[in-house]
Amino acid sequence: MAAKKACETFSKALMEDVHRWGCMKQTGVSLRYMMEFGSTPTEKNLLISAQFLHKELAIRIARRAIELDSLPYGLSKKPAVIKVRDWYVDSFRDLRSYPDIKNMTDEKDFTEMIKAIKVRHNNVVPTMALGVQQLKKGMDPKIVYEDLIEIHQFLDRFYMSRIGIRMLIGQHVELHNPNPAPHCIGYIHTKMSPVEVARNASEDARSICCREYGSAPDVQIYGDPDFTFPASVLARNGYLIRIYSFSSKVISVLFLYNHCMFSTRYVPAHLHLMVFELVKNSLRAVQERFIDSDNVAPPVRIIVADGLEDVTIKVSDEGGGIPRSGLPKIFTYLYSTARNPLDEHEDLGLGDNVTMAGYGYGIPISRLYARYFGGDLQIISMEGYGTDAYLHLSRLGDSQEPLP
Ligand code: ATP
Ligand code: MG
Repeated sequence: MAAKKACETFSKALMEDVHRWGCMKQTGVSLRYMMEFGSTPTEKNLLISAQFLHKELAIRIARRAIELDSLPYGLSKKPAVIKVRDWYVDSFRDLRSYPDIKNMTDEKDFTEMIKAIKVRHNNVVPTMALGVQQLKKGMDPKIVYEDLIEIHQFLDRFYMSRIGIRMLIGQHVELHNPNPAPHCIGYIHTKMSPVEVARNASEDARSICCREYGSAPDVQIYGDPDFTFPASVLARNGYLIRIYSFSSKVISVLFLYNHCMFSTRYVPAHLHLMVFELVKNSLRAVQERFIDSDNVAPPVRIIVADGLEDVTIKVSDEGGGIPRSGLPKIFTYLYSTARNPLDEHEDLGLGDNVTMAGYGYGIPISRLYARYFGGDLQIISMEGYGTDAYLHLSRLGDSQEPLP
């Protein structure tokens, strides 16, 4: 089947509309704004939020649809990429054909519709990975795929935008939950314990490691006793938060010395995913290095540090490190030293199958999640010894949402 451009699949009027909306300005939403707004999910606020999303999602989705149709190296013509593009155009059409949201009945229907859009896009990441894999396979062997900077930059923009779109939809939908979990404002947890999330993510990574290798190195987690109160009342003033979290530290030392959990405002699912990916990489490196050794595999160490600006999580291993020449590649998509599961099963990754490694997505995607709320991910390695990954999470949550 010949690869069809969007204008050949969809009506001219629809594609003109996509282009018109794709040129409009996107509006970012900070974590702090989402929290403040979501802390009072009155009918009026839900209506405002739905009206905002009605426009904003159409703009963001249109931008992606246009870009998916004009990618370099023939990537737009790969069947998997066309499938993804069609999902974006379909979702844009759904949004644009939805009438103005005037009352709570409209709002409820609209919420159901954007929920369905989120489900439609569930498999975007593995499907795009398949498309890029198709490109990589068919490329002139003289071209080094990792050097195709435009492709990696496009994927960074594309996935970053996807994180934002899903966050906005998820947050809006979750505000309708009649029984929100304690300390949760939509997706955002106001008393999240990074130590606890890191523990759960490590256990998940260890169980995959056990399944793959029959055993898994230990993971030790260190976090200083500390405690900060959720500061939503003070959130409008960054200066106050600083003083407040500083004094709460003093209080915690004096009175709450047995309270051994950090707390911070963040999305636990995002943190879980990032730590899970990093620990999975560390476990694999250690396991492969020590599998035939008489020595006991050294543990992976996680240190959680609570700063005024950032909460930083370091994942350290003695898995032999990454050669310096390989370091720039680990942030590209599809770079992996593991056997590629996509080679064996063309449809793998579209189900719930989680593998230890092989897609080359763990590190670049984790960095995007970290950056989405103003954090970052750095990887430092000592070849012949091990790797340290530093995951920084911005604790103030007032950074501007990145809008690719
Ligand atoms: P997946 O998408 O399933 O995570 P992957 O683990 O290969 O596949 P990344 O997590 O992005 O992909 O890692 C890319 C590559 O970087 C790995 O294949 C590995 O070669 C190297 N790497 C990452 N972390 C470590 C580590 N802690 N020690 C040694 N090598 C590492
Ligand atoms: Mg990985």
